[in-house]
Amino acid sequence: MNIIITGGGWAGCSAAYAARKQGANVILLERTDSLLGTGLVGGIMRNNGRYTATEEMIAMGGGDIFKIIDENCRHKNISFPGHEHASLYDIAKTPVAITNYLKEMGVKVKLQERVVKAQVEDGVILSVETASGAVYEGDAFIDTTGTAGPMNNCTKYGNGCAMCVLRCPSFGGRVSLAGICGIPEKTGKKADNSIGAMSGSCKLYKESLAPEIVETLNNTGVAVIPLPEELIENHLSVKACQQYALKEFAENIILLDTGHAKLMTPFYTLEKLHKIPGFENARYEDPYAGGKGNSMRYFDMSPRTNALQVEGLKNLFCAGEKAGLLVGHTEAIVTGVLAGYNCTRFLKNKPLLELSRKTAIGEAIAYVDEEMLTEEGIGKKYTFSGSVFFEHMKKLGLYETDVTKIEENIKNEGLWNIFAS
Ligand SMILES: Cc1cc2nc3c(=O)[nH]c(=O)nc-3n(C[C@H](O)[C@H](O)[C@H](O)COP(=O)(O)OP(=O)(O)OC[C@H]3O[C@@H](n4cnc5c(N)ncnc54)[C@H](O)[C@@H]3O)c2cc1C
Repeated sequence: MNIIITGGGWAGCSAAYAARKQGANVILLERTDSLLGTGLVGGIMRNNGRYTATEEMIAMGGGDIFKIIDENCRHKNISFPGHEHASLYDIAKTPVAITNYLKEMGVKVKLQERVVKAQVEDGVILSVETASGAVYEGDAFIDTTGTAGPMNNCTKYGNGCAMCVLRCPSFGGRVSLAGICGIPEKTGKKADNSIGAMSGSCKLYKESLAPEIVETLNNTGVAVIPLPEELIENHLSVKACQQYALKEFAENIILLDTGHAKLMTPFYTLEKLHKIPGFENARYEDPYAGGKGNSMRYFDMSPRTNALQVEGLKNLFCAGEKAGLLVGHTEAIVTGVLAGYNCTRFLKNKPLLELSRKTAIGEAIAYVDEEMLTEEGIGKKYTFSGSVFFEHMKKLGLYETDVTKIEENIKNEGLWNIFAS
């Protein structure tokens, strides 16, 4: 069983983990020099319904990635406006811990390998080719190339290349594997019908902020600094992360400690930022042009089944943002595990697994796909952590923080340790 995974973000890493756990030979191709993709600048875990999804995946036996993240958190069980029991991983240590873990379990990680071509015959992908000319043959493939960028999308639909962590000028832009195989893909919209969505947070160098802000961040993980009215910049409607599109995020500067100071707004004019007490010397760590804009996302999502098999090709699976308008690391990890697992089931000629809709994860995978068929639904984003899907979860009684109850539910649905066996 040779499985080739294209894209080493959270979805790709988790798919690699799950497929390897099932005994497959796994090659993980990543176009940049590090794993984790947009997870290199993220960090927020377990907030609101993400807690339930995380514990469900642990109960299903596919939670090792979450356990590594828990071990690399700077803060646990913190609250910030609209969000409870969150943890924040360290954005420097976590990528290294995950890379080491995958290598130790035998995943072949190939960095600076950007897939640009694919050989397809009768709906079956035979091999992929990278920009360096290397050809990788596989029995099955997983597309976890994400939906962010490349630069032409950020220019056309955003405020230009913001020089984000994806580093398209250095490593070449994102290329969708399903796309180059001829699969027609979908693009997300904003509520006003415009295309794509802007990433919703930046990072400031902590050392460029006033010592009292840094101390609060280091001690509590959160700093909320009210803004005088004349300095308020409201970018809530363009945000990819609708769970943070609350008025508190416009009326205050909200910082979270992920190693740097995570600034919970898509961008904020540097000149204005320098007028806020404590931010006189503030400097962007990511994106470099965070005073002007941020990366654009939610282009090229693949049509797929609830088992995460891409429709139109026989041996391609997908996960993470590729699998629909799902926002977040937790969302990428849980879909990654399912795609990796199902890819091996496919190669063993076993029936593919669709997760029960009586679980938060199963409901999210099915619900987002249904919603994306509607004009209203394609204008929204879906996450366990807030906005429409968290409300939906609560309505269905799927939001739970009692681990024993989560475990009971997983057992009742016949999913206990399913990914471990
Ligand atoms: C600035 C920012 C902050 C965020 N903060 C948080 C947060 O705190 N908490 C949270 O839960 N979510 C956060 N998110 C959202 C979250 O990061 C994503 O939804 C999730 O991690 C997506 O994972 P993914 O693997 O699907 O895609 P990506 O992270 O986009 O990964 C895709 C990977 O594929 C690679 N790739 C693309 N094309 C190719 C190719 N042709 N060949 C090889 N490799 C390729 C890319 O280089 C990349 O590494 C944030 C997003 C951004 C942009």
